[in-house]
Parts: sequence; structure tokens; C-alpha cells
Amino acid sequence: MRIRDILRTKGDAVATVRPEATVRQLLSVLAEHNIGAVVVSPDGASIAGIASERDVVRALHERGAALLDRPVSDIMTAEVRNCGPADKVEDLRRAMTEHRFRHVPVVEDGRLVGIVSIGDVVKSAIDELESDREHLVDYIQRAP
Ligand code: AMP
Repeated sequence: MRIRDILRTKGDAVATVRPEATVRQLLSVLAEHNIGAVVVSPDGASIAGIASERDVVRALHERGAALLDRPVSDIMTAEVRNCGPADKVEDLRRAMTEHRFRHVPVVEDGRLVGIVSIGDVVKSAIDELESDREHLVDYIQRAP
């Protein structure tokens, strides 16, 4: 299974905020879309960073409520690990587990074309197992 197979089902929508947006604005994007991370992008196509709910919690704990009016660029992770549509889902699953992040933007020709979460990766693994199971049951039932 490839990353593009996941995107085919879930689509290419990616929630983004500009680096100068406030943490308060970031929170409303997270809440409105019911998501855990937002790609930080000046133009919706290039990636300046990623900011997840974990970054907000950690920074709030360290810096208090004044953080809410600070720019997202203060708390984002600037070194983002991306993947491409042709990458194997299995490799991404390994990288997400090893590096302990739950969101990976998908980039093609330097442009943001989707995002994959750990939930998407788990769902694709379950779908694959389910399809294997159906094939096996079918094979067994057809046996003379
Ligand atoms: P998450 O598990 O996605 O909520 O993120 C946990 C931490 O990893 C946060 O500090 C994020 O900013 C960071 N992070 C999330 N996704 C990525 C990514 N694709 N590349 C690098 N860092 C990330």
C-alpha cells in the first residue's frame, strides 16, 4: 500500500495557518477541523513548519496564557519530516513510531498535496487485514 492510496480515500485537504497567525488562531483551526496538527505555510503550498496540539500544551505549560497571542512560528517544529505519494505506508508507519509524531505532510514537486495521520495509517492496516481475511475465507470456502 502506498501513500497515494490513502490520499485517494481521504482526499488532499490540508489545514494550514500562516507563520504569523497567533496560537489562539491555531487553536480555532484545530478545534474547527477536529484535528491534532496544522501545517504552517505562508502560501498553502510550501511548508514552514508543523504545529500540533502537543506543541501548544507544552508551550502553555512553560509560558502561560500570554502564549495565546504569540505567533505560531514561536512554537512550531521547523524541521518537518515529509513523505511522497509513492512512499510505502509501511515505511511511514515505522518512521512515525520511531520519531514519535502522528502527522506527516505529503509533498510532490515541492508542493503540499496532503497529510497522513497515524489514524489514517492504522485504518489502512486494518483495511488491508480485512481484505486479506476475506480472500482467505473465500479461498477456503472454494476448496473442494
Ligand atoms: P504529533 O504527534 O503529530 O502531535 O507531534 C508531536 C511532536 O512532533 C510535535 O512537537 C510536532 O510539532 C512534531 N511533529 C509532528 N509532525 C511532525 C513531522 N511530520 N515532522 C517533524 N515533526 C513533527
